[in-house]
Amino acid sequence: MGLFDRIKKAFSAEPEKETPVEQDQTTPETPVESDATPVESQAPAETAAAEKTETDEPASLATEDDSETVSPLDTPTAAPVNSEPEPEPEPEPEPEPEPEPEPEPVEASAVTEESDAIEEVPETEAVTGDMQAAETKKYDDGLEKSRLTFGQRLNALFANFRSVDEAFFDDVEEMLIEADVGYEIAMKIADELRDEVKLRNVKKPEAVSQAIVEKLVDLYGQEGQAEDNQLHFAPQGELTVFLFVGVNGAGKTTSIGKFAHQLEKAGKKVLLAAGDTFRAGAIEQLQEWGRRDNVPVVASAAGSDPASVVYDAVKRAKEEQFDILLVDTAGRLQNNVNLMKELEKVKRIITREVPAAPQEVLLVLDATTGQNALVQAKQFKQTTDVTGIVLTKLDGSAKGGIVLAVRTELHLPVKMVGLGEKMNDLQLFDPNRFVYGLFKDIIVGDGPQKTTDTDVSQAIK
Ligand code: GDP
Repeated sequence: MGLFDRIKKAFSAEPEKETPVEQDQTTPETPVESDATPVESQAPAETAAAEKTETDEPASLATEDDSETVSPLDTPTAAPVNSEPEPEPEPEPEPEPEPEPEPEPVEASAVTEESDAIEEVPETEAVTGDMQAAETKKYDDGLEKSRLTFGQRLNALFANFRSVDEAFFDDVEEMLIEADVGYEIAMKIADELRDEVKLRNVKKPEAVSQAIVEKLVDLYGQEGQAEDNQLHFAPQGELTVFLFVGVNGAGKTTSIGKFAHQLEKAGKKVLLAAGDTFRAGAIEQLQEWGRRDNVPVVASAAGSDPASVVYDAVKRAKEEQFDILLVDTAGRLQNNVNLMKELEKVKRIITREVPAAPQEVLLVLDATTGQNALVQAKQFKQTTDVTGIVLTKLDGSAKGGIVLAVRTELHLPVKMVGLGEKMNDLQLFDPNRFVYGLFKDIIVGDGPQKTTDTDVSQAIK
């Protein structure tokens, strides 16, 4: 069964049955909710199969008291149901501190701190179900622009043609390219459609509609077979370092700020390093996030050597036993060669001090820039060992198809997605939920949603 059919099945109405989503075997799995394997027994690289049983607390991932019971980077922490309302963060690039709302009381029975207790607590399932629906809604909302635009283009295509002829296929190609799925995919799909239409003797354009999406989704599934979408953390008690790279304006600092907030709320000891010393504003912006998140920031004056800032940050992180260090980097220097050299130097320093680090080098890409984002990614990939992509601003973009192009042309896994401006709108990437968010009208319509958790806390061990 292709990915299209699997997603269709997973998202189709089955309200009574607690069937976990059939995991897409073609993509690395996000944890399945019923997996109550103790996290300590997992390999360091594995994402915690955390059952999340949390409150509605806006813009956070955990109840306050988790921090007392959770060892850094070992036990999965509880995470909130991502339901509204969430406070609006202040507009960037100068985030204002926002008040930390009190977590809402949670029924004791619905909260578990031990993952092995999950199966014995039926309420947990209901909470998880709500949370999954809330996370799916984030994808739905965040991808609305892309979905509507694609739907409109599809409708316009069918309104313009009475029969399936060569001009029709030209328009299909154009539509797919405009949706930023990438040239290769657009051509491949159009060619396959031509063959299929001939084979089945299809005359009416409407009949091709589902086939287009089916092919897109299945191709996407095939290309993602060996893809590792999970975030990797150091084993318990060791320092994890994530390096964020990308051009100015892509959303590096904002993503670090949101991620730090979520990690901190999940009970982790987080340190930030203001490695973008090229731009004074970037240092202040990260410091502002630090104040907002209640997380310390290692910074130096603008113009200073970023490698020395990062060295200081790693030293402090080790001495004071931080769980995770998030490093911001410059997005622009006088030229690309300088930028890439600087990134290499920063990375070398990290690895020299912590041999297994950085566990992730995350390239932050702005989805609204479409094909430009791909060009940037190719440049970074050539000179930096990028381990994954953080794709931001999907909510503001009609170019959700870029994920398909990233997968087929770059072969870099998307690990997180920015689906809006709120704290919890930075989500782990769930390939199935993403595809559903993009094409749900065509796949199944508005059925009950059920899939795995993408709340960032589920990646935290
Ligand atoms: P940097 O130069 O790479 O550090 O980029 P910034 O973090 O300063 O982000 C640039 C702008 O993008 C800011 O106005 C952010 O609020 C905005 N931004 C970042 N991520 C997202 C997202 O996922 N959705 C939306 N709508 N805006 C975002």
